[in-house]
Amino acid sequence: MAHFTSTLAESLAPDVLARFDRYVRIDTQAARDRTQSPSTPGQLELARLLAQELAQIGLADAAVDENGYVTATLAASAGGDAATVIGLIAHVDTSPDAPGAGVVPIVHRGYDGAPITLPRNAITLDPASEPHLASRAGHDIVTASGDTLLGADDKAGVAEIMAAVAHLQAHPELPRPTIRICFTPDEEVGEGATLFDVEAFGARCAYTMDGSSAGEIQDETFSALEATITITGVDVHPGLATGILVNAARVAARIVAALPQERLTPETTSGREGFIHVYEMSGDTARARIRAILRDFDDELLAGHAELLRATAQAVADATPGASLQIDVVEQYPNMRAHLAPFPEVVEHAIAAIRAEGLEPLREPIRGGTDGSRLSAMGLPTPNIFTGGHAYHSAREWASLQDMAAAAAVIVHLAAAWAAA
Ligand SMILES: [Zn+2]
Repeated sequence: MAHFTSTLAESLAPDVLARFDRYVRIDTQAARDRTQSPSTPGQLELARLLAQELAQIGLADAAVDENGYVTATLAASAGGDAATVIGLIAHVDTSPDAPGAGVVPIVHRGYDGAPITLPRNAITLDPASEPHLASRAGHDIVTASGDTLLGADDKAGVAEIMAAVAHLQAHPELPRPTIRICFTPDEEVGEGATLFDVEAFGARCAYTMDGSSAGEIQDETFSALEATITITGVDVHPGLATGILVNAARVAARIVAALPQERLTPETTSGREGFIHVYEMSGDTARARIRAILRDFDDELLAGHAELLRATAQAVADATPGASLQIDVVEQYPNMRAHLAPFPEVVEHAIAAIRAEGLEPLREPIRGGTDGSRLSAMGLPTPNIFTGGHAYHSAREWASLQDMAAAAAVIVHLAAAWAAA
């Protein structure tokens, strides 16, 4: 039993791998600033394939809706509690931050613990700088070929749900509640929850399979704001500009320079610390724009970051007669913790399922958001469970087959935990 957590995981592994291999080859890279759902046609291709495969497994109601959401129902076990309905969710899209077309997965069987050099672009995965990889010596490691991401985020989650559902359907004697499945589009561009029909889904809670290290159960995410600062200057011919020209691009530069540099940035914070991240600046003399994301686990501290940004920008503008300023702050997603707190059994059953697979539950806050952040706020409490993938959004992305199989087994235990509740 080469590094498998259980004989169940070992028995699920071939199906998890076959599905994963099939799904990652479809280019489902999401596009920012979308005008339709899903943002790209490849996501629909994978959605249709998944609906077809769910129907083949025996889930007769499997369907893709007009926005690219795949849903299906796995009936409760005979004599089980059909009235209890839980959900399983994963996203079909991949990140726009690394190439997603032409993924050719490679399985490194019985990984020897040495650096892995991929055939294209001489990309190397170095266990010396990736401690998670070092800890997976002996596992079967799946990588891409060097010129694309792998897509374990989140096709590992998709494959694990599919394999677990196929297993449960083939074993009607295994206890389970009613299980609703949903595969969402455009999570990577922050839209996965946007068109999710919580009422039609009809579950009391759900789990996203979209984490990383084996054992993770995450019930806390950042709270997130996005700020756009627009500066308007006064543009005249530079030869005639004396006392008249007000350069919006310079005002923008002064605002960014006036923000904290040694603290409150992504590169100087960790753990529970929040930040203001200026991720885009553009402009010319007449008009300039600064875009920033603001993050914290604490809503009051987050509001403080927004106030600091506002006050800093206003002070610079006030010191520049003729410059005018507009600041727009919008909420992106809330910390899921407050929305999960009233339903402790949701996380407790996940912890029990992870323990049942022989893993130590890792409960750490996510320095980011998931579909579950917004779904929890929309009334569907949705913590996040590990998938076994790592180094997401890059050509160095990899996944352990043993950990992916463990995640699929955790789903089977999770079904049992709810059936016994
Ligand atoms: Zn993801």
